[in-house]
Amino acid sequence: MPARWIKLRAGLTLLRISPSLKALFLLLRQRRRLHGYKKDHKIVRSGNMYYWSIYTPGFPSEGFNAMIQQEIKRAFQADPETKALQTLILSISSRCDYQCEHCYEGNNLGSREKLPIASLEKILREAIDLNIPHIQIGGGEPMLRFHDLIRLLELGKGHMEFWLSTSGYGLTRDKAHDLKAAGLSGATISLDHWEAEHHNRFRNHPEAFKWATEAVENCKAAGIIPNLTLCVTHEMANEEHLMKYMNLARNMGVPFVRFLEARKVGNYAGKDVLLTKEEQSALVQFYMLMNGSKKYRSYPIIQYPGYHQRKLGCYGAGNRYIHIDSAGNYHSCPFCRGAVGNINEMELKEGIRHLREKGCQLFKTNPHA
Ligand code: SF4
Repeated sequence: MPARWIKLRAGLTLLRISPSLKALFLLLRQRRRLHGYKKDHKIVRSGNMYYWSIYTPGFPSEGFNAMIQQEIKRAFQADPETKALQTLILSISSRCDYQCEHCYEGNNLGSREKLPIASLEKILREAIDLNIPHIQIGGGEPMLRFHDLIRLLELGKGHMEFWLSTSGYGLTRDKAHDLKAAGLSGATISLDHWEAEHHNRFRNHPEAFKWATEAVENCKAAGIIPNLTLCVTHEMANEEHLMKYMNLARNMGVPFVRFLEARKVGNYAGKDVLLTKEEQSALVQFYMLMNGSKKYRSYPIIQYPGYHQRKLGCYGAGNRYIHIDSAGNYHSCPFCRGAVGNINEMELKEGIRHLREKGCQLFKTNPHA
């Protein structure tokens, strides 16, 4: 179906579920502020669903409508307590065969799982009760806990959309098909350099590049949306490297690429990894160019949370998402550590409330933004 028809259908749905034209106007204005660029030139199709972002459930779906209605509520209601969480980032494994330079879960990694499956199932049931439409499952390496991962997907199927965050390790063709059958929509696969050797060195594993590229192919074959995620370091934060990376991503046929700036957490704690002002502005310029210009229509859509975090404030800390690490601790997000409790003694609803009270440590938190 041509892109303009999808946009028209989505527009009619927005009109139908918006309480007023004013609400719709506020929503569209908010979206423009969030992305920075004026027009969307790219839409991603997966089966019968269409995606503009890896953070929004596919259109048309109940989850998509629910998220839009939540966004409208945000624009009108003063009390953040009434606002549901959009995304739960849930780390299900504290094991990993890699030793990545930047690993934010480094303090929790070991040879045994820290959370029993019963605790993970309990938290997922609470997320279903709270109508959280979007779950990002990560680790450690979640593929090392494959059987439990399938159980969780089956438990949440029909209630929420699932995306997997993985290095790609062990994501074979058969497993990709099992994941799809259990209800996985997309996979965010870490790839931190356009050159194999560099990526393997960064991940401290000789086959990291091979696994990441194979995982993309296997996801495509199974009908799972493959998305690449790049930890943007000082080395990568310039047009030359970013363009080489985007050329590789386009050749691999991935529809989304996510840029995550290096942060001083986990293995990077206390290190000189934060991007300079010049590097940040090179990243912003590149993001605007690739997403906003028709010339780059054939390239993947870039998702760059750092852009709107600086402009509009943090979306984590219980605003739109929170993170539960592989030991069960509640955090504002994977990069703002400082647990407010643990799932073994605190319900999800309480965890969200405490994180809202605490707010983000890095950026301002604005629940209405
Ligand atoms: S970043 Fe991910 S893949 Fe790398 S060591 Fe940490 S958990 Fe493993």
